[in-house]
Amino acid sequence: MDRQTEFVLRSMEERGIRFVRLWFTDVLGTLKSVAIAPAEVEGAIAEGVGFDGSAIEGFSRIYESDLVAHPDPSTYQVLPWRQGGRSTARMFCDIKLPDGSPSFADPRFVLKRAMQKASDMGFTFYIHPEIEFFLLRHLQPPEPLDDGGYFDHTTLGDGTDFRRDAITMLEQMGISVEFSHHEAAPGQHEIDLRYADALTMADNVTTFRVVVREVAVSQGIHATFMPKPFSDFAGSGMHTHMSLFEGDTNAFYDASDPYNLSRTAKHFVAGLLRHAPEITAVTNQWVNSYKRLVSGSEAPQFACWGRADRSALVRIPQFTPGKTSSARVEYRAVDPAVNPYLAYAVMLNAGLKGIEEEYPLPPELEQEAWRLSGRERKALGIRELPHNLDEAIHLMEESELVADTLGEHVYGYFLRNKLDEFAAYRRQVTPWELERHIRVM
Ligand code: GLN
Ligand code: MG
Ligand code: MG
Ligand code: MG
Repeated sequence: MDRQTEFVLRSMEERGIRFVRLWFTDVLGTLKSVAIAPAEVEGAIAEGVGFDGSAIEGFSRIYESDLVAHPDPSTYQVLPWRQGGRSTARMFCDIKLPDGSPSFADPRFVLKRAMQKASDMGFTFYIHPEIEFFLLRHLQPPEPLDDGGYFDHTTLGDGTDFRRDAITMLEQMGISVEFSHHEAAPGQHEIDLRYADALTMADNVTTFRVVVREVAVSQGIHATFMPKPFSDFAGSGMHTHMSLFEGDTNAFYDASDPYNLSRTAKHFVAGLLRHAPEITAVTNQWVNSYKRLVSGSEAPQFACWGRADRSALVRIPQFTPGKTSSARVEYRAVDPAVNPYLAYAVMLNAGLKGIEEEYPLPPELEQEAWRLSGRERKALGIRELPHNLDEAIHLMEESELVADTLGEHVYGYFLRNKLDEFAAYRRQVTPWELERHIRVM
């Protein structure tokens, strides 16, 4: 028995754990959970737990519907909201076929494969996300919990308390929080997680969404990660800060560069910019995601980069003098309703492609991209992000990069699922149309 397994068994004993939940996500990033008894845990870690994959979104291929969930003991954590007599812990799982080979439908495997490629090139991939979400009194129609604004200190009980409770729980689960504040829109909050390797962070983001929902329920309110719940307020983003390390050295840092960015970092950004339109279906996967990517709400619309422009897709944050580990790039398209495993994989491979092919970095855009005319942008070679899910899917259909990163199975499933979503949306007559057109002609 290895040391991690020993630790899990000892902790279960000491903490009086009654249930262990095995967690994994489907292709869209929805969390799935199966509970096992403590007595089963040792066997589960050694041999996995069989389940029928055909009912899980994106897992269904008749000939491999028998799947096996292999819990990763390094992800063992006690669930802080399930303590007392019926304490519960969880572990994330890798999904395998009965013969022990990885399931091509497992998003965690997609990310591991991309990280392996980075590792073959000598890199570890680190992520630090800024996660925005809304707290609501009611879901239908959505009513924000407070009417605070950016960095407002709202009175106790209006979210401040919420963030304190949520952060306490996250810390209890080994997820460090760096920063939290009220965001620009009423009821909107942001919590920023301390950087971790991309696989750990994808697990953390998945856990984060559960914790935030649990705390909301316990306070009789609702939390939503919907990218754009209100037409008139800014949406919720999940800006993603990225860096590559070579051992302990930040491969993005160069003291002699005016931006403190290395050639590696510049090629990585060039890769992100060049491949942004085709990866957007993955980083912004819902019909609603595209309602956020419009001007006037600090969300990106154009594939350009800058240091200050909040409408740029890639921003280079101010470098903290002396802290070379802080050199990083921020990709602002991602929203919090993403499958983080798939999104981190496509962003990583877009950046690595830029490094491999030595893509040149276009010059920094010093003005705000949305102020330029279409012709001016064209002359500068700045492309737009897709305007809706349909455009995004068509760009993804043409993308070798996304096909290679997701693998044939996830790629095909994702495209079919998203075509269906858009087809259903296309038939909808919205309140906006009724108001505008009911008296038409
Ligand atoms: N809410 C904005 C977005 O959707 C970001 C606001 C900010 O953090 N500057 O991306
Ligand atoms: Mg922020
Ligand atoms: Mg923010
Ligand atoms: Mg940001």
